Amino acid sequence: MALIVQKYGGTSVESVERIKNVADRIIETAQQGNEVVVVVSAMGKSTDELIHLAKCISDQPSKREMDMLVSTGEQVSMSLLAMALQEKGYDSISLTGWQAGIATESVHGNARVMDIDPKRITAHLATGKIVIVAGFQGLTEEKEIATLGRGGSDTTAVALAARLNAEKCEIYTDVTGVFTTDPRVVKGARKLEAISYDEMLEMANLGAGVLHPRSVEFAKNYDVPLEVRSSIEKVTGTRIEEEVAMEGNLMVRGIAFEDNVTKVTVHGLPDEMTTLSALFTTLSNSQINVDIIIQNTNGNETTDISFSVDSEILTYTLEVLSQYQDQLKFDHISYEENLAKVSIVGSGMISNPGVAAKMFDVLAENQIKVKMVSTSEIKVSTIVESITMISAIECLHEAFELDARQPVQTV
Ligand code: ADP
Ligand code: ASP
Ligand code: MG
Repeated sequence: MALIVQKYGGTSVESVERIKNVADRIIETAQQGNEVVVVVSAMGKSTDELIHLAKCISDQPSKREMDMLVSTGEQVSMSLLAMALQEKGYDSISLTGWQAGIATESVHGNARVMDIDPKRITAHLATGKIVIVAGFQGLTEEKEIATLGRGGSDTTAVALAARLNAEKCEIYTDVTGVFTTDPRVVKGARKLEAISYDEMLEMANLGAGVLHPRSVEFAKNYDVPLEVRSSIEKVTGTRIEEEVAMEGNLMVRGIAFEDNVTKVTVHGLPDEMTTLSALFTTLSNSQINVDIIIQNTNGNETTDISFSVDSEILTYTLEVLSQYQDQLKFDHISYEENLAKVSIVGSGMISNPGVAAKMFDVLAENQIKVKMVSTSEIKVSTIVESITMISAIECLHEAFELDARQPVQTV
């Protein structure tokens, strides 16, 4: 008997009808002779609604209480799903994160899963039950409820699949798989049959919200066969696995993007050996997550350092920098808002040195100004103005032959 972990996202359980539909999909899997552990997200947009309620009460609600609040969303969907299964004659039980033995680090709002004690789940499976687990939550050492960050139910599912040694982990969502780029943004986006863990991890980290980045990390580290599928359409999805050959002559697998980027420049820092480390230690001590960094030396013993941050933390970043102005000895700060990051990702880049050049060519031909760049072995990221983001994605999608309408050239 194989054990399968399935995860159903918010849209897949947004209504009573959808929950009943999910129950049918689970029953089909059980009828094929499998043990099933199911992870659910909160219904529809209910996590957003809970966050909105909190914001109506406080601008800066306590992180502990936020976790107490948002963790309730998954408790609603898990119990309704267990009831739907029971109603259809299947023995089922729902468990919160802590009941399921999920231990997290002692952080609120974005905790990592540290360990899972699967005793209770395996005991229920042994009595023939379908086990439903609340996604996106666990318990800290101090017995506090902690959540795993937005989209974290994917990580609950993959972590459980790893710990339970499941045959595979299936992520059911509102699209039929992982596409070359977000199919809601680019009509010609093409569904991928497969994508490697490394490429998917880059895509997820660079903004492709279809999978929570930490879920891909878990899948890679523990070799969990992972598949993204539709909870509505019964079609094959996308496999995420160790090695995936590039199709035809393609160099790029996909395009990821995220809006809400701000570039901050610290002007007139002393051009000294310790300047970079002093600046970024100050920022990291204040939990400020910096992305792309550029340094420009002015030739007069001063240097300017630019970095990009999520626009949401701009005000806080400026406050922290001002607080340390005397210590860091800079002259002034400037910033540029309304920027976006557009990234191309693909293992084909490792052996094709011209990919970045082609990306810049295509963007220049389309009058899209690049403000910052960063590269790794399998990605090139550019910071562009937000208003040019969609056209940047579209022209790159076409230039790198990712379009569904273009036949893939085979060698
Ligand atoms: P769920 O609630 O099921 O977890 P999410 O909204 O978190 O669903 O993830 C699915 C969404 O991810 C899709 O509706 C799509 O808009 C978005 N998405 C972004 N990039 C991609 C991509 N490359 N392939 C597929 N979907 C993507
Ligand atoms: N409900 C949480 C969210 O909306 C977790 C998840 O759906 O994965 O972010
Ligand atoms: Mg999600």
